[in-house]
Amino acid sequence: MATYVYDFSEGNKDLKDLLGGKGANLAEMTRLGLPVPPGFTITTEACRAYMSSGELPPELRVEVTMALRRLEDTLGRALGDFHDPLLVSVRSGAKYSMPGMMETVLNIGLNDASVQGLTKFSGDERFAWDSYRRLIQMFGKTVLDIDGDRFADALDAMKVARGVTADTDLTAADLHELVEQFKTIVREESGREFPQHPREQLDLAITAVFNSWNTDRARLYRRRERIPNDLGTAVNVVSMVFGNLGENSGTGVCFTRDPATGRTGDYGDYLPNAQGEDVVAGIRNTLTLADFEELDPTSFAELRQAMRRLETHYRDLCDIEFTVERGKLWMLQTRVGKRTAGAAFRIATQLVDEHLITLDEALERVTGAQLSKLMFPQFDVDADRTLLATGMAASPGAAVGAAVFSSATAQERAAAGEDVILVRRETNPDDLGGMIAAVGVLTSRGGKTSHAAVVARGMGTTCVVGADALDVDVVARTITVGDVVVREGETIAIDGSSGEIFLGSVPVVPSPVVHYLEEGLDAALAHLPEGDEETAELVRAVDRVLTHADTVRRLRVHANADTAPDAHRARSWGAQGIGLCRTEHMFLGERRVLIERLILAADDGEREAALEALLPLQRTDFEDLLTEMDGLPTTIRLIDPPLHEFLPDLTELSVQVALAQERGESGEQVERDRALLAAVQRMHEANPMLGLRGVRLGLVVPGLFALQIRAVAEASARRLRAGGRPHAEIMVPLAASVMELFLVRDEAERLIAEVAEAEGVELSIPVGAMIELPRAALTADRMAQAAEFFSFGTNDLTQTTWGFSRDDVEGAFFSEYTERGVISVSPFETIDRRGVGRLVRIAVEEGRRARPDLTLGVCGEHGGDPESVHFFHEVGLDYVSCSPFRVPVARLEAGRAAV
Ligand code: ADP
Ligand code: MG
Ligand code: MG
Repeated sequence: MATYVYDFSEGNKDLKDLLGGKGANLAEMTRLGLPVPPGFTITTEACRAYMSSGELPPELRVEVTMALRRLEDTLGRALGDFHDPLLVSVRSGAKYSMPGMMETVLNIGLNDASVQGLTKFSGDERFAWDSYRRLIQMFGKTVLDIDGDRFADALDAMKVARGVTADTDLTAADLHELVEQFKTIVREESGREFPQHPREQLDLAITAVFNSWNTDRARLYRRRERIPNDLGTAVNVVSMVFGNLGENSGTGVCFTRDPATGRTGDYGDYLPNAQGEDVVAGIRNTLTLADFEELDPTSFAELRQAMRRLETHYRDLCDIEFTVERGKLWMLQTRVGKRTAGAAFRIATQLVDEHLITLDEALERVTGAQLSKLMFPQFDVDADRTLLATGMAASPGAAVGAAVFSSATAQERAAAGEDVILVRRETNPDDLGGMIAAVGVLTSRGGKTSHAAVVARGMGTTCVVGADALDVDVVARTITVGDVVVREGETIAIDGSSGEIFLGSVPVVPSPVVHYLEEGLDAALAHLPEGDEETAELVRAVDRVLTHADTVRRLRVHANADTAPDAHRARSWGAQGIGLCRTEHMFLGERRVLIERLILAADDGEREAALEALLPLQRTDFEDLLTEMDGLPTTIRLIDPPLHEFLPDLTELSVQVALAQERGESGEQVERDRALLAAVQRMHEANPMLGLRGVRLGLVVPGLFALQIRAVAEASARRLRAGGRPHAEIMVPLAASVMELFLVRDEAERLIAEVAEAEGVELSIPVGAMIELPRAALTADRMAQAAEFFSFGTNDLTQTTWGFSRDDVEGAFFSEYTERGVISVSPFETIDRRGVGRLVRIAVEEGRRARPDLTLGVCGEHGGDPESVHFFHEVGLDYVSCSPFRVPVARLEAGRAAV
């Protein structure tokens, strides 16, 4: 029989798949001897069983009873007891943390009888009734699906009636009355009584937590974070401890390091006389840990010890939820904490310096996605700026956008292409859609651990919280600061690193990490303002980790660059070659006319004249490129797209010609347009992606490839004579058959020999194949007979393997496909290991078998995608090639793949 229930004493931190993150870490803390309230975890397996059958597995009910009895025996209290009742919380907790996405119900076990027992046990009648009203409120909202505003309004009305502002000012009698009102709300809204039986409460809450796995917002969050939909959540049943038992009680959240900057030390928020939710919801303004130390030095000392213990044990930044019940500390949750990109790099190197982890491990602690975040521009401190207010820096970045006041508006405006900043008093899980759509999030309340801060940090969205100088009115849709009023749609700018909020737009400047990547460490440090130690530490950390990645990685990193300036940038960012130079880009602009002439040529003479005119231009292109890439491999791809892409649009041209005819116009221009139209019609293809392009075009249009090959050879010869070290390689696009390759290669060899002879130099220019059709991959052993290297063109290979036309399908139905689980991420973004990846594997193995010294690389978009880089490392490619901007990310990920 499957075991669906684990006591905290039975699990450990490595059982996250089964116990979820929260359950596994509660078990780990229990094992470490930290003060965790006893409890048990219902496994994710139970959730999956529930999701497939639609009901709680019968064994689960039995196992819960057993676990509950053990818990009652341990604590000497019973659920629902009239004298000394046991209360529990029912808490969701999946493998991956999904902050605030799922449900938790506190104070389960209270009813009309046990509320008396709680009064006796605590000696505090007010507290007992407060706990009971919280239960009905939370239970009503999450389990019975009642609009939370019904309860919140009743609570507000009670406060108004009693003339008080804080919940804590309500008396026991007020709260008792409120409980009765809440029960009425439950009856009215759900058509049933609030369940009095504690076990019924428990089972319903467990079911509600399971169900919360599948709410819209949880699904949305998972799609964004790429968390699979079928994992399910665990449920933790934890005996209650009370932070709302008066001023010597309270609840808090803390980090072992500052998650925003990585600075060592304790960081956190504390709220006296409160239950957990109150801190995270940002409802009341919180105290700092320093305040907490003053209030309760003993509990604080114990907390610090636990923090240190956890950080040493996990060897990483931990975040912690704790509660103090009448001077006694309880640990309610810990996990390796989310952090900003900058903090990730800094913490990783700090831990190396503290000898807690190795450099290899430091490399594993950071990601390419974090590095690219650090490359984003920042606000220019020297620009004219109007400071509106300063809040807390919660998630870094420089965001400029229109202020909007609701999640719906944020989504609408963002969908219309506008940059928006979502402004709220505080956010709650219903704001998730808007937070995703916005470039920045701003709240006037809550601390660094509020919902807005935690979620924004997780998503890498710029965020400022707790700017209490702002009066945010979401109904009037205004922010008021003194006599300044910002209305919806007006531009504001927020700095998630300093917490500053500016009126209007602020110009941005490149980040110091980009300075570093372009000019090196010393130059980047010299560039920093005096005394900016934090940024200096960050730049040093990036340098250290990236340098380590460079020493351990096996994959080389090349860049896709078409022009000398692109190549220059790529090289300065660490590219070790050009993996793809797309020559068609050289035929745009003024040169388009020459291509037009080539296409319209009536005879060989005209065609040759056009080619002659193109030759010197191409030669100069390549010479410049080879100069820039001196000493490094430079892969030049022969022209790839269908020729008609260089001609005007068929419909437009037809209209133009028809109009001219109607008006009876004549002359040279009209004649040219006619000829052009005929050519466009002749070349029109129903499916150009699979039409006359790539090597096919080269074999059909005489002289075109020859021109390009000659230009490469002559450019190389000139570079050699000038004392350079050119390493040009010629790549044949879209080959499906080895015969195509042989034909091009034979011609190339002949031309190269001819140029070498004429110029009096020795030329070695390898000819290879772009592998981008399934047939090429499947016949790799034969392709390798003609090709000296392979470069996987994974964009086309993905299109042709899936039969997806990238330009047509991505917007059309990929979100539907993701939602329904057909794909988890676009195969154009991350390589599809099973299908496209299989073809790559086959081609690597067979190609190497046929030609052991075959060089293998990839030049599709996937070359710069972190997950795909790991795949290319695994299959044994020699290099990945990506856009210059992605080069540092690929370097880092290639290093991570190797450790
Ligand atoms: P989330 O995953 O959204 O953080 P939790 O399950 O951690 O939800 O619950 C939210 C808060 O409820 C916790 O931070 C904690 O303060 C409070 N809480 C949960 N269980 C208990 C308990 N057994 N005793 C006291 N407070 C609890
Ligand atoms: Mg929590
Ligand atoms: Mg292609």
